[in-house]
Amino acid sequence: MTNTVRVSVLGASGSIGVSALDVIASGGQGSPEFSVIALTANRNVEALAAAARRARAEIAVVADEACYGELKSALAGSGVEVAAGDAAIAEAGARKADVVVAGIVGIAGLAATLSAVRQGASIALANKESMVCAGKLLREEARQSGARLLPIDSEHNAIFQVLDRPERVEKLILTASGGPFRSASLQEMAAATPEKACAHPNWNMGAKISVDSATMMNKGLELIEAAYLFDVPESRIDVLIHPQSIIHSLVAYDDGSVLAQLGLPDMRTPISYALSWPRRMPLPGLERLDLAKIGRLDFLPPDAKRFPALTLARGAVFAGGGAPIVLNGANEVAVAAFLQRRIGFLTISEVAGQVLEEYLGHATARAEPAKFDDVYAIDRWARARTVEMLNLAA
Ligand code: NDP
Repeated sequence: MTNTVRVSVLGASGSIGVSALDVIASGGQGSPEFSVIALTANRNVEALAAAARRARAEIAVVADEACYGELKSALAGSGVEVAAGDAAIAEAGARKADVVVAGIVGIAGLAATLSAVRQGASIALANKESMVCAGKLLREEARQSGARLLPIDSEHNAIFQVLDRPERVEKLILTASGGPFRSASLQEMAAATPEKACAHPNWNMGAKISVDSATMMNKGLELIEAAYLFDVPESRIDVLIHPQSIIHSLVAYDDGSVLAQLGLPDMRTPISYALSWPRRMPLPGLERLDLAKIGRLDFLPPDAKRFPALTLARGAVFAGGGAPIVLNGANEVAVAAFLQRRIGFLTISEVAGQVLEEYLGHATARAEPAKFDDVYAIDRWARARTVEMLNLAA
C-alpha cells in the first residue's frame, strides 16, 4: 500500500456505506490518509451525490440507468465522474483501489465484489450474500489475485481479530442478539409487520438484514459465511444468543482457552479494523465500552422451533453444492415480499425451506458450482421457484 489508502465504497448510500464513509472522514491522529475512488448506489441519487461531493470521490455510479441524468445534474461542476448501469457498478469494483468496501445488499453485490477481488484489492466484506453464494469461488479468485478478504460483519470481524492459531481451533462461536422477536411467541411472530421486524433492539441496519435478523436467517447466512471464510465445517460452528450484543463472537481453542472480541454495537469499529488492517486506527469520537455500566452479559441457546432458518442454513452448508445459493435466493425473494406486505413473517423461512428441500431432490444439487455463471443460474432457479410457490407473479 502507498501512504494514502485508496478506498472505494460499494453501496455508499446504505447503512454500511454511510458508516464506512464516516470512518474515512473521522479517523483521529494516527489514521491512514484516505482518498476515495468509487462510490455506488442503486437509486438513491441524493445520498450518493452528497457523499461523492463530501468525499471528493473520483466517480459516482448508480445501478439504475434511469437515474443517470439526475446524478449527472446533482454532480455538475463537482469534478466527480458519473456512470450508470450494472456493468458500471461492476467496473467501479475494478477501479484501482487498495481497499474496496463491499456494502451492496444481496447477490446483487456479487459482480462488483468479484471485480474488486480480481483486481487484488483488500475487500472489506459486508456483503455476506456474495460469500454465501460463491464463497469457494471467491476464495479461489482471491488466492489467484492476492486479494484479502477482510470481514466487517461484526461476528466474522471479531473472529478474524482473535483467530491467531487456525489449526488449534475447536469451535467458532457466533453470537446473536436474537433480534426483535427473541422472546416473542409464534403467534406474535405470525402477526409481525415489517415495522416490528425492522425494529432491531441493538443495531440500526438496512431493511433486508433487519428482517434477516428477525427470522435469524441472518445468523444462518453468517454461519455459512463463516464456514467459507474460515474453512471450518458447520459442525464446529456454534450459535449463542447474547442479547446485549457486546461480545461479537468467540473462538474456542483446543487448550481450553476461549478468546472473544468485545465492543459496543457500532459497525464503525469492525469497518475501521478492515480499513486500517493490519494496523488499527483510532476512532476518537466513538463511545467507549463501560462494562460496569452494562453490569451483566447474558447467554442462552437458540430456539430452533421459532427460528427454523438456522437449521435450514446448517442443512444447506452441510449439503454444499448449490444449496446455500438456493437458500439465499429464496430468502431474498421472500424478504422482499414480506417488506411489501405480500406474505406473512413466518412464511419467509417456510418457503425458503420448501424451495431448498425441492432443490436437494435434484440429482445435481450437491455438485459444486464450477463458475460464477452456475451460481447465477442456480440463483435464478431459486428465485423463480419462490415466486411460483408464493404466487407472487399474479
Ligand atoms: P442497506 O439496504 O442499508 O444498503 C444497501 C446498499 O446497496 C445501498 O447503497 C443500495 O443503494 C445498494 N444496492 C441495493 N441494491 C442494489 C443493486 N441491485 N445494485 C447496486 N447497489 C444496490 O443495506 P446494509 O448497509 O444494511 O447492508 C449491506 C450489506 O452489508 C448486506 O449484505 C448486509 O447483510 C451486510 N451487513 C450489514 C450490516 C449493517 O450493520 N447494516 C452488518 C453486517 C453486514 P440504494 O440506497 O440506492 O438503494
